[in-house]
Amino acid sequence: MTMLDRPDPSYADPTVHAEGLFIGGAWLPGTGIDVTDPATGTVLAKVADASVEQGLQAVEAAYAAASAWRATPPRRRSEILMRWFELMKEHAEDLATLISLENGKALPDARGEVAYAAEFFRWYGEEAVRIAGEFRHAPSGANHILVDHDPIGVCVLITPWNFPAAMATRKIGPALAAGCTVVLKPASETPLTAYAMARLGEAAGVPAGVVNVVTTTKPGPVVGAMLADPRVRKLSFTGSTAVGRRLLAEAAGSVVSCSMELGGNAPFLVFDDADLEAALDGAMTAKMRNAGEACTAANRFYVQSGIYDRFAQGLSARMAALTVGAGTEAGTEVGPMITAAAVDKIDRLVRDAVAQGGTVLTGGQAAKGPGFYYPPTVLTDVPPDAAMAREEIFGPVAALYRFDTEEEAIRQANDTEYGLAAYIFSKDLSRALRVGRGIESGMIAINRGLMSDPAAPFGGTKQSGLGREGGVTGIAEYLEPKYFAVNF
Ligand code: NAD
Repeated sequence: MTMLDRPDPSYADPTVHAEGLFIGGAWLPGTGIDVTDPATGTVLAKVADASVEQGLQAVEAAYAAASAWRATPPRRRSEILMRWFELMKEHAEDLATLISLENGKALPDARGEVAYAAEFFRWYGEEAVRIAGEFRHAPSGANHILVDHDPIGVCVLITPWNFPAAMATRKIGPALAAGCTVVLKPASETPLTAYAMARLGEAAGVPAGVVNVVTTTKPGPVVGAMLADPRVRKLSFTGSTAVGRRLLAEAAGSVVSCSMELGGNAPFLVFDDADLEAALDGAMTAKMRNAGEACTAANRFYVQSGIYDRFAQGLSARMAALTVGAGTEAGTEVGPMITAAAVDKIDRLVRDAVAQGGTVLTGGQAAKGPGFYYPPTVLTDVPPDAAMAREEIFGPVAALYRFDTEEEAIRQANDTEYGLAAYIFSKDLSRALRVGRGIESGMIAINRGLMSDPAAPFGGTKQSGLGREGGVTGIAEYLEPKYFAVNF
C-alpha cells in the first residue's frame, strides 16, 4: 500500500497530534513538551503541558460523562470498541510509523505493537456483553445472595513510553467495556500515539468525556491532585516499581483501588536437554522485542553447563548479525534507545559487569551520536552480584550465567524482588512445568520467547505488581461487586 492509498496518512504525521489536551471531547491548545526523535535527538513536535487545574478539568469531564456511559447498553459499548479496533487496523501502518518515530522502535516491532494493541479493543468489545453476576442461596437458608457488578467509576490510567499504544488499549479497553470513563496520562516521551488513538476513538463514536488525554511534565502534582479528588475511584498504572510504590502510598489517602503493572527482571532458563535452535529463537524474541525495552524482556540468561558454550556462541552470532538503525528505516531490526540517559544506564551496567569479570562476546560499547544507540551485546560469565543481575537492563544486552542443577536454577531465578515473567527451555515438559511451578513469577513461557496475549492474564507477583490485565479477569479490575441480601 502506498501512502496515498491509505485512509488518512495524517495519522503518521507527528505535528498533526500536537493540537493540545483532549478533555471532554474538545482539543485544548497548548505547548510545552518537546517530543524527541530518539534516532536523531531532534524535536518531532510539541504537545501541551497540563497544569494541575487542567488535570482536574479532565477528571470533571470524565465524571460528567460517567452516568450516561454507564447507562449505555453493553452491546453499544461493545460496538464502539469493535469500531475502534477496526479503525486501528485500517490505520495500522500510519500508527506504526508514528510509534516508530517517537519511541524509536524498529517498524516491524511497531507493527507488532499496533496489532497487539488493537486486539485489546476486540477482546474487550467481546467481553463487554459478558459481564455476569451471581445468584445463590445463603447457607442459612434464610435469604438469597445476589451479586451485581457495577463500573468502579472514574479511572486514572498512567502509561509508560515503551508500548505507547498497547499499554493504553490494555487499560482503556476493559475500562470502557465495564462502563467506566477514563483520564489517560501517557508518558511525556511518547504522547503522540495517545493523541492519535484519541482521534480514532472520536471517529469510532466514543462519546465526549468518556476518554480524556492529558500530557504533563509535572506528573507528581497533577496525578497527586487527581488521586486526592474523591471522584476518582481507580488508578491503573504501568511503569517502574519506584513510581508504582509512590503512587500506592498516594492512593491510600483516598483509598483508591490500584492496579499496578511494574518492573521486571525476567530469568531465561536453558536446560541441557533444550532444542538449541528453539532456545536461540526464543532468546532473540524474549531479549530483542523492542530492542530490549520491555518489562518482560529476558534480563538474566541461566544456561546449564552442558549447553552453555553452544548457546553463547549461537546467541552472539545472531546478535552480531542484527541491523541497527533508525526505527523507520527499511531493514532496521534494532532501533535507538528512548533517551541518552537510557544509553548511559546500559553503559554503566555493562561496565560494571565487565569490571567484575564478565566477558564481552559482541557489542559492549555505546555508539556515538547523533541518536541514542547501544549495540546488541552478549556477556558471558557475568557474576551473580553484578548490578545487571538485580536491575532492569532495558536494552539490547544479554547477560549469561551458568548453572548445573535444577535447584540452583530455581534459586537463582527467584533471587530478585521482581516476579513478572520467566522463560524455560527444555524438551522435558514435566521438568519445565516442575521448574515453572517453583519460579515466583506471574507469567511463564515454556519453549517460546513471547507470552503477551490479550486473552491471557498479564501481570506480576512480588514487587512487579498488583492485579492482572487482559484475559477474562482483566475487566474485574474495573468492576465493583455489589451484594444484595434478598428476601423474596
Ligand atoms: P516510569 O515509572 O518512569 O513512568 C511511567 C509513567 O508514570 C509515565 O507516564 C510517567 O510520566 C509517570 N510518572 C512518573 N513519575 C510520576 C509520579 N510521581 N506520579 C505520577 N506519575 C508519574 O516508567 P517508564 O520509564 O516510563 O517505563 C519503564 C518501566 O515500566 C520499566 O520499569 C518497565 O518494566 C515498566 N513496564 C511494566 C510493564 C508491565 O506490564 N508490568 C509494561 C511496560 C513497562
